[in-house]
Parts: sequence; C-alpha cells; structure tokens
Amino acid sequence: MKALVKVALGKGNLELRELPDPVAGPGEVVMRVAATGVCGTDLHVEDDEYVVVPPVTIGHETAGRVVDIGPGVTGVAIGDRVTAMTTIWSCGACDYCRDGELNLCPHRRALGAQVDGAFATYLRVPAAKALLLPPGVPDEAAALTEPLACCTRAVLEVARLQAVAPRDDAPVVVSGPGPIGLLCALVARSAGHRVVILGTGADGARFAIARRLGFTDVVDVTASDPVAAIAAMTDGAGVPVVIEAAGAPASLATALELVRRRGTVVQVGLYGKPIPVPVDRLVIREVTLRGSFASTPSSWRSAIDLMARGAVDLMPLVSQVLPLEDWAVGFAAARSKAAGKVVLVPGA
Ligand SMILES: [Zn+2]
Ligand SMILES: [Zn+2]
Repeated sequence: MKALVKVALGKGNLELRELPDPVAGPGEVVMRVAATGVCGTDLHVEDDEYVVVPPVTIGHETAGRVVDIGPGVTGVAIGDRVTAMTTIWSCGACDYCRDGELNLCPHRRALGAQVDGAFATYLRVPAAKALLLPPGVPDEAAALTEPLACCTRAVLEVARLQAVAPRDDAPVVVSGPGPIGLLCALVARSAGHRVVILGTGADGARFAIARRLGFTDVVDVTASDPVAAIAAMTDGAGVPVVIEAAGAPASLATALELVRRRGTVVQVGLYGKPIPVPVDRLVIREVTLRGSFASTPSSWRSAIDLMARGAVDLMPLVSQVLPLEDWAVGFAAARSKAAGKVVLVPGA
C-alpha cells in the first residue's frame, strides 16, 4: 500500500512509500481509509516541531471501512464505517489514565506520530480505538471527527462552556478562524452560546467559511479594533471565555485583553516556540489561562453525538479533497490560510 512516512527526524523528510498491507492481529482491526484530514500537527511534524518516532506513517484525522478483524474482536464488523481515536496506547496505570484523560498519559503513543497513522491506503488500530460513525455524514466530513473531538475537549471539558450561563448574554470569543477555531465555534454554538470569531486581513477565505457556517459576528482585527467591538457588546466587561486557536502571539495578547475579570482563556493553538505573554494582565484580572491538548474518550463521544444529532455540519469546512499522491500540494494549501480543511484520499 501507499503511505506518507516521516522517514527521519529533521525538517521535511516526508516520503510517499510503498509498505506491506497491514493484517489485523489479535484484538485489532484494519480499515480501508476513505479520507484523512491534514492537521496543523502534520505541518508541525513536517517542520520538525512535534515529537514523532520515525519511520512512521503520519495522519490521524480519518474515516474508513473495516476490511479485516483479528481474533477476539467483538463489537466491530467487516464493512462498518469507523474512525480511530488518536491515543492508540497509554499506560492504563497513571492517575491520568485512571481518570480517562488518556491525552495526558506521560507514556501516550499517538496515531500518526508514534504509531503508524492514516495517510495510507489501510490503517491498523486496536479494535477498542475504532468508533462507529453515524450514517449520513460524508466520509470527508467524518474524517474531521478527530479535530471535532479536540474541540469538544477544549470547549466542553476544559472551558466547560455548557456550564457557563452568561448573565448578560456576553458572547464567547474564538480567536483564529482556521479549521480548529471554526470547529470550536460550532461546539460553543451547539452549547447555546453566541460566538464572535476573530481573524486577520489574511483570513478572508476562512471568514467566508465562517459565514457559510452561519456565524455573522466576524471581526477582522487588521481592519477594526476587537477590544472596542467586544467592549461595545459587553458594556465594557469583556467575555467570560476566549478560545485561542490561532497559535499567534498577537492573538493571545488580544485574548487577554478581551477576557473579563476572573474569566478563562483556553489555549488550543500551538506556537512551536516560546512566545511573550502579558502575564501582568493575567495577575491583575485573575484570569485563568488553560491549555487543552488532543482528545479524551469522552470528548470523542461528545463529538460523535454532535454529528449524529446533526448539531454540527462539518462539510462546509472541507475546502479541498486531493489524492494522497498530491499530499505536498495539500500540505502547502493547509499552510496558506486560503483553505478550510484539506482532505487526502488514498486512490484505488
Ligand atoms: Zn488533528
Ligand atoms: Zn497513563
């Protein structure tokens, strides 16, 4: 089969290689990949800014159909349409694993980073990591279950927005209109919140996707002052929660300006390097800055539930579908901000 492999540490070092087709061992399933999304993490892997164990097939946002099941597998059948949770292995014994926060296990091994991933014709995973997908969601959209699960983690489990009832109808701010920001906005809206999305003058194509998703409160911070805009909406109080999904230092500084006293900024974007943070503001306003990383089994359940209920429509986020062979074109598009989500499909 064809597979996109990080062949060695260092910048680049990605190659489309011919690998043997995987066979399901005990407790495992093999799925034929229908679609796999290009994630910011994949770009960080290309840039040598993310921990991987080469040689490893990358890619972790996927949907496909089960074509082989190993001995002892129950609950999954050949032909089932599934996605795969990203934490493929965790120790099971640490406090985080016991709490169901497999994303925090210090020994975690993740799909497409430390374990062979989904930019390939076939993907082998433990059957317990394969989750049934709801009918009616196209494969390209179903491949986005993983980033949606990262966003249900950030919005529902870290920010706990379903438990935040703004007294004054203050909106939630999402800074960064890339795929992760827009997915966070969808989850926040599904939890009953008005959402304001911030971006820059370079984000025109992404603003258009935001509008297609039904978001009308979109602020271009290059053209207008977001602090004034939010002050006008909140009587100067600021917002209870900001989701930082741009991974840009200026975006975090703005988030700390917009959040109200005792509010929360959830950091979802990665910077790939140390950045300056206006910490005094955090101190004086007693603001909480919390990270949110990857996904948990419960956040996957929430994501699939949102899709099954039709509470989120992911298809408008898919801006390009390319054959796996054109991965370099897809990666460049994902970098360009001209795209929503780029999805790669392995050929026949
Ligand atoms: Zn991802
Ligand atoms: Zn553990």
